[in-house]
Amino acid sequence: MRVVFGVGALDRLGAEAAALGLSRVLVIRGPGRSGAGRRVAEALGGRAAGLFAEARMHVPADLARRTVEAADELGADGCVTVGGGSAIGLGKAVALARGLPVVAVPTTYAGSEMTPVWGVTEQGHKRTGRDQRVLPRSVLYDPTLTVSLPTMLSVVSGVNALAHAVEGLYAPDTTPIICLMAEEGARALAEALPKVVTDGADLDARAGAQYGAWLCGAVLGATTMSLHHKLCHTLGGMLDLPHAQTHTVLLPHVLAYNQPAAPTAVAALRRAFGAADPAGALWDLTDRLGAPRSLRELGMAEADLPRVVEQAVLRPYANPREVTADGLARLLRRAWAGEPPRDA
Ligand code: NAD
Repeated sequence: MRVVFGVGALDRLGAEAAALGLSRVLVIRGPGRSGAGRRVAEALGGRAAGLFAEARMHVPADLARRTVEAADELGADGCVTVGGGSAIGLGKAVALARGLPVVAVPTTYAGSEMTPVWGVTEQGHKRTGRDQRVLPRSVLYDPTLTVSLPTMLSVVSGVNALAHAVEGLYAPDTTPIICLMAEEGARALAEALPKVVTDGADLDARAGAQYGAWLCGAVLGATTMSLHHKLCHTLGGMLDLPHAQTHTVLLPHVLAYNQPAAPTAVAALRRAFGAADPAGALWDLTDRLGAPRSLRELGMAEADLPRVVEQAVLRPYANPREVTADGLARLLRRAWAGEPPRDA
């Protein structure tokens, strides 16, 4: 895949589409992102053939079907997604169903643009899979497109990216190179996010956060994720909790739980965060950045805790530390109540 990076990267879009031989492109974005959609259509020129503007979280199956229908009706030969993981998710749905190439113009830090992972949500259950056809052929990271991302969304989206780095470091299939990328991605985001909060129009800070998101997205694409991503998928699918916010609340808790069993990851994160206790440092960082603290404030009812635990322990998945129902129940209760993370 190709990655184009930096202020003005969007100007390359026409050339990227031309290099892929695309002449009838379906532009996919979310509602309310008309400004970004216009900039993309302008950059595509005559290659922009139509617009699908209904992207929403977790790729509901009926929405994915309608996006494929829109591509069919248009006779599209490719998709350009502009937006976060929701817009990219619909582009991936078209790629999966029709084999059309995707060019991604990311405007959040979620990282989906760097992965061959697709997801679809049906009847409260999120299914995911891997397929090289959905990996975008070209990704254009232009920090100017992230200036409009509201402060709080920037923070939670950045922590979503950090989660890929954390779980990449202790993934069962991690490699030394992936660990370097994860550590550098975590370092870049921990440095950039406070600056983004101070001044959301600071293009150096925005570029730093995007650089971190790129690295973390690549880590996500190359490794198998563990307990943290499993829990976020369970909560997203079952309760429709907001994706990046859920990552932000849970990550310090899952990291604290896993730290005793993941010494190499802890060493890398100590260097990245410049702190002896990475989970505590993450908790403090997200607190300083004004991020949400609890699943309760994201709309989760206390009564949902047992069935989330039940779902999350149903199928086995990789994790450096054994996941017990009791351990998970304690972790989730703390995350629900907004208490500080602990390792037991
Ligand atoms: P999102 O795409 O839903 O965007 C969140 C909100 O921010 C939306 O309202 C959107 O319109 C708005 N927004 C996005 N960019 C903006 C900008 N620059 N300025 C102003 N507003 C902006 O959220 P997300 O966190 O990027 O993506 C979440 C989805 O992506 C979830 O469904 C998640 O499962 C999926 N995801 C998939 C992968 C993968 O590898 N398949 C990886 C990460 C996330």
